[in-house]
Amino acid sequence: MPLAAMGEIVEPARAAGFGVCAFNVIGIEHAEAIVAGAETARAPVVLAISENCASYHGALEPIAGACLALARRARVPVAVHLDHASSAELVKAAVELGLGSVMYDASALRYADNVRATAETAHWCHGRGIWVEAELGEIGGKDGVHSPSARTDPDEAAGFVAATAVDALAVAVGSSHAMLTRVAVLDLGLIARLHRAVGVPLVLHGSSGVPDQDLAAAVRAGMTKINIATQLNKVFTAAVRACLTAEPAAVDPRRYGSAGRDAIAAEVARLLRLTRTAGIVETGIVQEGTAGPREPAVGEGAKAGGAGEPLSPVE
Ligand SMILES: [Zn+2]
Repeated sequence: MPLAAMGEIVEPARAAGFGVCAFNVIGIEHAEAIVAGAETARAPVVLAISENCASYHGALEPIAGACLALARRARVPVAVHLDHASSAELVKAAVELGLGSVMYDASALRYADNVRATAETAHWCHGRGIWVEAELGEIGGKDGVHSPSARTDPDEAAGFVAATAVDALAVAVGSSHAMLTRVAVLDLGLIARLHRAVGVPLVLHGSSGVPDQDLAAAVRAGMTKINIATQLNKVFTAAVRACLTAEPAAVDPRRYGSAGRDAIAAEVARLLRLTRTAGIVETGIVQEGTAGPREPAVGEGAKAGGAGEPLSPVE
């Protein structure tokens, strides 16, 4: 299965009412586990590399190269995405390395400056066939990005998309980055209004703080791309900690690294099934006579049209 374009994964999902998960990579074990989990769930997936992840590795190229190689040999569609890039230089570096999509985050700027900077980046990217996500609704303050109290206005969102020509929009609807507990309360009515007002897929950041049932409800309300980072770091670190506690003499990183990797793979498969089946009942894809919703096949939505202490910002 070749490396997938983001649009091939996200656009059919939006049309069909499925959710698509983008999981943040930290190291190669994360990337391997995310692909393995997607193969288990037989679902397309997005490997997201944040600007902070590139900084952690000292450069984008080593981790991007690993993700691209894993995507090319995966048995499901895998897109490799640059997440939360505030630097136009990093966007250009990502495109040169072969990433097919970027999130350009100018949300800390004033509205007019966000529009201007995002439109410029989108124009540059579209000239090279690159899919662009942007963000609107960040209000800053002591809670930082994606403050739980931040809200994206639907009319402003529609105007922003029209003025910038972005392919997807990250919106503020009640979630917050890097939450260690899953107690965020989403504004589902606002998600529905944004879905009606905005003609491009909506992106939920900070999804790790959202309970399962609310993630499903967000997809049903019109959210398409679900970004998850901290939740995977939590399960990875818990598994590594358990392994080292059980085997205090262990020194080979492959011993505990594989425990962490297995834990991520299982959580990825679970979250992909949750978000991909969430919209099915309302979109009428349930097969009569079956006990429950039919899980979409791997081609559907993808080919039908084709840490506990995370670096900030993370999901
Ligand atoms: Zn984010």
